[in-house]
Amino acid sequence: MAQSVVKIENLVKRYKELIALDHFSLEIFEGEVFGLLGPNGSGKTTTINCLLSLLSYDKGDIEIFGEKMTPSSYDIKSKIGVIMQNVAVFDELTVYENIDYFCGLYVKDKAARKQYVDEAVKFVGLEEFTKFYPKKLSGGLLRRLNIACGIAHKPKLIILDEPTVAVDPQSRNKILEGIQELNKQGATVIYTSHYMEEVEQICSRIAIMDKGKCIALGTKEELKKQMKNTETITVEVMDVTEAQLEDVRRLAHVYEVTLENGRLTVKYSGGKHNLLRLMTYMQEQDIRFGRVYSELPTLNDVFLEFTGKQLRD
Ligand code: ADP
Ligand code: MG
Repeated sequence: MAQSVVKIENLVKRYKELIALDHFSLEIFEGEVFGLLGPNGSGKTTTINCLLSLLSYDKGDIEIFGEKMTPSSYDIKSKIGVIMQNVAVFDELTVYENIDYFCGLYVKDKAARKQYVDEAVKFVGLEEFTKFYPKKLSGGLLRRLNIACGIAHKPKLIILDEPTVAVDPQSRNKILEGIQELNKQGATVIYTSHYMEEVEQICSRIAIMDKGKCIALGTKEELKKQMKNTETITVEVMDVTEAQLEDVRRLAHVYEVTLENGRLTVKYSGGKHNLLRLMTYMQEQDIRFGRVYSELPTLNDVFLEFTGKQLRD
């Protein structure tokens, strides 16, 4: 059994009347890239702030590396690297000085510190910008600096809160690849996002949050398995009668049929050869059709099914 890195039990956090975290529990194990996925306001940042003891909470227990986390747990904190949602660097320090400052909070040995800072600079690809001040950096480069500051001291647990928001595609890819590389080098990662594709791409397990609760948890395959919808077939059609729609509704494994703007959408729960069966029926009935596509559910569909809401960028 892999070691527990983070254990959150029954966490409740209120901001006056608002319940931001509602008996939220979660356990994350060594070696994972764990995705915390949820729309804005679902409680991701609040969870992280509670985890780090930056925020007091009303109820619940938090353990990190098997020890109770408190505001004065310096030893635990030195093993954590945090990249906050809002970039937090010093404007009056250069890129190099910023990374050196944050690394120096935990690494006291001078030679090791210099080596760590150089490695962090290289890791995020800021070699040409070490003498720049943050104000001179583009949004993407600033994000990379923020990341370098968080990881320079080689933490065992790295927490990134929406690190790719408002970042150009090139920097975004670099960030995602970087996270996977850090994980390969042995770090456990917690990654929050409201982008489906990212979480799907890099996370070993995913918790879906909504209104301070965990509404689904598992690998992306497990989450998709929990869904009713397994396949959606869309066909561009000319004329379809009500009676024919009724027939389609009665085909095996179909649970929903809609016709809108000449697009027939058929949703399936399980079954094989669904496409073939539908095409056969359309040919028998002489229904003329244009393009046909069959789609498997994405995490976006998972979210929609669990919450009834669409996830948006
Ligand atoms: P996320 O990071 O998933 O977008 P947050 O954890 O920031 O969500 O917010 C969760 C909920 O708590 C939201 O409804 C938000 O408006 C509220 N909230 C967050 N911070 C505060 C605060 N300092 N005071 C009052 N309400 C807050
Ligand atoms: Mg947030």
